[in-house]
Amino acid sequence: MPAPPAATPLASGSRYRAPPPLKLLAAAIAVGARTRSVRRRRLPSPPPRSVAPLALFCRPSSSSFHRLFARNSLFSQMERYWTGRGISSNKGMVEQLQNYGIIRSKKVAEVMEKLDRGLFVPEGAPAYVDSPMPIGYNATISAPHMHATCLELLEKNLQPGMHALDIGSGTGYLTACFAMMVGPQGRAVAVEHIPELVANSVKNVQRSAAAPLLKEGALSLHVGDGRLGWPEHAPYDAIHVGAAAPEIPKALVDQLKPGGRMVIPVGNIFQDLKVVDKNSDGSISVHDETSVRYVPLTSRDAQLGGF
Ligand code: SAH
Repeated sequence: MPAPPAATPLASGSRYRAPPPLKLLAAAIAVGARTRSVRRRRLPSPPPRSVAPLALFCRPSSSSFHRLFARNSLFSQMERYWTGRGISSNKGMVEQLQNYGIIRSKKVAEVMEKLDRGLFVPEGAPAYVDSPMPIGYNATISAPHMHATCLELLEKNLQPGMHALDIGSGTGYLTACFAMMVGPQGRAVAVEHIPELVANSVKNVQRSAAAPLLKEGALSLHVGDGRLGWPEHAPYDAIHVGAAAPEIPKALVDQLKPGGRMVIPVGNIFQDLKVVDKNSDGSISVHDETSVRYVPLTSRDAQLGGF
């Protein structure tokens, strides 16, 4: 995804720059990453990613700082080891997620292989590293393992012809994955409240393998307050929320089909990825999948003001 245009300042007043390794590492634990595994099935664990404490305690002098953090420095080589061993291709990223047991479904692997994540991250960002990355406007693209986890959890509700809603769609990456899973007879709807991010996500999708689905109308990306859902194409078989809500929004439960499933991070400092299943009688069953850290599902003003 291209960086926001030069004339578009970020909420913080700075312009977007590709994040240096330290920022990436801080972001890895700060946003959109799984923080503690409480999954029911034991998975082989990926290499440790939460290395920010080291960075925090590491206060080198300015010359040694340069040596540590410059491109190909010892630190950036170590960062590559920790966060993906220098994975430089989309296929390599998918294979790594399969090796760690995060991707188990063939269909999820196929879709993630077809949709190059490199088309969705800001220019210059290490696209295939398993880490969330800033995309401007105090938002991030979630880490590949979180995208894969959500696709796995929703796979049965993303069959051809089904309807999927992606709230807080950011770069549009996951919406594009949903669209590829439900196909031309289905519908994938994105709702994002920052208009500039929606405009960027349209461009990202247009360059990707999901472009024909956008053109045909099976995939649509909208500016709106995701807490209200998108009633026009409800009820949905699958709902994904990419930002942490203080509680499960009623409007989203209402827009879930009986038999439908919603995956939503809930909480403030401590957040759980909740799986909400709507039963055939309209009641819901909820379980916690894992602990996570996402940006809040909030108002546009609160987000642009830095929360
Ligand atoms: N899943 C996306 C982005 C995750 S970041 C990706 O991986 O690319 C969370 C996103 O939620 C941000 O883009 C943020 O702008 C958006 N967001 C936060 N509150 C929202 C709200 N009330 N309505 C719609 N979008 C919201």
